[in-house]
Amino acid sequence: MIIGSHVSFKKDKQLVGSVEEALSYGSTTFMFYTGAPQNTNRQPIDNNLTEEAIELMRDKIDINNVIVHAPYIINLASSNDFAVDFLKQELKRVEQLKMTKLVLHPGSSVKLSREEGIKNIIDNLNKVGQSKVLILLETMAGKGTELGKNFLEIKEIIDGVNYPIGVCLDTCHINDAGYDLTNFDKILDLFDDIIGLDKLKCVHINDSKNLINTHKDRHENIGYGTIGFDNLIKIIYHDKLKGIPKILETPYVSKDDTSKEKLYPPYKFEIEMILNKKFNDNLINDIRNYYNDF
Ligand code: FE
Ligand code: FE
Ligand code: ZN
Repeated sequence: MIIGSHVSFKKDKQLVGSVEEALSYGSTTFMFYTGAPQNTNRQPIDNNLTEEAIELMRDKIDINNVIVHAPYIINLASSNDFAVDFLKQELKRVEQLKMTKLVLHPGSSVKLSREEGIKNIIDNLNKVGQSKVLILLETMAGKGTELGKNFLEIKEIIDGVNYPIGVCLDTCHINDAGYDLTNFDKILDLFDDIIGLDKLKCVHINDSKNLINTHKDRHENIGYGTIGFDNLIKIIYHDKLKGIPKILETPYVSKDDTSKEKLYPPYKFEIEMILNKKFNDNLINDIRNYYNDF
């Protein structure tokens, strides 16, 4: 089972910190942003730290299963060149980090039509051009004017780009986009018919705070949302998804019921539940007890 979570990438230790965090959760992979996801300020990559991190990963985490996430403010559906330039730079950083896969939100059409938005995404990806890094388009919830909210839109983009592009399926997003996760076989068949299962290179495993087709995109802890533990387990252990990295992006947990600040990562305990295939109905308290004692 190749499973891990989103982890941080901080100034001082860079990838070393990310690997240490992933290993502390019992992960066999991880995903990170190379800087703050909401801005494009980036500090130089320290190659010594990268080498140290790769050494730390040895025999535990295969670098080919590690995922980088592009900052979500890159909007390739817009017609200006800022997103293109930044994505080019980001791909260089990903290469320098020896990583092979970058997850990207396709973009939002904002004031443009859906067709113009999709056309811009295709043109901009063609301007960015092929690199050693495989770009994975993420399936979106369809919040606001988000594009890539169904398999047909993703396919349209893939077909327009003149080099290979992969896909990252997000369980919370497709639930919110209207796909019924109680019948995942049917979703995979549809994915295979429209896009082709060979394009699927990453799965984001999240429960959802909202009902199917609500277009909200609010993640929930595993087994605590509307998708539910059993449906998520079926997805995680699905035969056709063997060997594909599964990444948790579930919300942090607050110190206690009164505090709003989300301080504690849930991943160690969620991964444990997943590996045991047994729902923990005391998850939140177990997380609080563990980190309060730290
Ligand atoms: Fe994402
Ligand atoms: Fe996601
Ligand atoms: Zn999301």
